Amino acid sequence: MSGILVIAEHEGGSFKKTAAELLGKATELAAALGTTVSAAVLGDAPATELGAFGASKVYQVPGDFSSYDTDRVVAGLQAALEAASPDAVLASASFLGKDAMPRLVARLGGGQASECTELRVDGGTLVGRRPLYAGKAFADARITRSPAVFTVRPNSFGQPEAGSGGAEVVEVSAELPEPRITLVEQKTPERDDVDLSEAERIVSGGRSLKSEDNFDSVVRPLAKSLGATAGASRAAVDAGYAPHGDQVGQTGKTVNPQLYIALGISGAIQHLAGMRTSKVIVAVNTDPDAPIFEHATYGLVADLFEVAPKLQAAFESLD
Ligand SMILES: Cc1cc2nc3c(=O)[nH]c(=O)nc-3n(C[C@H](O)[C@H](O)[C@H](O)COP(=O)(O)OP(=O)(O)OC[C@H]3O[C@@H](n4cnc5c(N)ncnc54)[C@H](O)[C@@H]3O)c2cc1C
Repeated sequence: MSGILVIAEHEGGSFKKTAAELLGKATELAAALGTTVSAAVLGDAPATELGAFGASKVYQVPGDFSSYDTDRVVAGLQAALEAASPDAVLASASFLGKDAMPRLVARLGGGQASECTELRVDGGTLVGRRPLYAGKAFADARITRSPAVFTVRPNSFGQPEAGSGGAEVVEVSAELPEPRITLVEQKTPERDDVDLSEAERIVSGGRSLKSEDNFDSVVRPLAKSLGATAGASRAAVDAGYAPHGDQVGQTGKTVNPQLYIALGISGAIQHLAGMRTSKVIVAVNTDPDAPIFEHATYGLVADLFEVAPKLQAAFESLD
């Protein structure tokens, strides 16, 4: 192995949690393989800081990447990877990971395993474990081409402790194509919680909430009381109780939190597809035969309108 490279994503210069998470895992894997860890960064961000999480070198591509443009991102990452020539690449299964990485891998002639939830070293190579069939089965993927690219669901590994020391920053020049998309306006949701895809705790509500008002007065305050992000089933979104950005599932977001509380959600296969790998699942449902209970770590056969305020009061009393 000549090294593991982590794609370190940032937003306006602040590294996302996944950058440290992936560098922490890469450091552990690199120690087992006897190799080094580097990172790739697009645009303006304090790249040297990544040394605190194990990157010895950071390949930084200058340029304006402030609004996402597939062609520019792929060209920038291609230049960074060609400069670093790693054997393995770890990236988050984020929007960028889903959109840019397969294009990049095709250009470089490598191989990719997507949405891994575990990574390990076996027989001197990396093996990525990824869910299949909406999480009903898992496959162990070993990639024989180089670079071997693994995209990883956020929160699959813990956050590493920051060490000391900075990384050596190597500036990589890339020929970036003119953007094919003109950004007219950007609307940022007025909320201060973590994005669902990266959230460590989620409280989701289903059709049983019956109205947007109930969703706002039951699901969101409970989520806030434990520092969680609110999510929703498609039935709740289709009924207008929550925006589409809150939808969890096959046609919504894939989440991987430490804690997932499902309030009045039946547990349809399309919902499970988006949250099944959550570490602890708590289900509250009046129907003891609801399918969600087959996947729940803790189940409460109860009315959510009675249980949610009690849970909220209990969490608030812990402050
Ligand atoms: C192609 C396709 C893609 C889809 N993609 C998604 C997706 O991304 N995400 C998704 O979620 N769904 C998706 N669906 C829809 C999915 O099949 C289900 O219809 C949906 O998940 C059901 O949402 P729900 O659990 O809120 O509603 P329901 O299935 O109606 O369940 C409501 C539950 O609430 C319980 N309940 C009622 N009152 C209370 C109460 N007071 N207290 C506690 N429990 C109560 C009931 O017992 C029931 O179990 C998709 C479907 C298709 C065909």
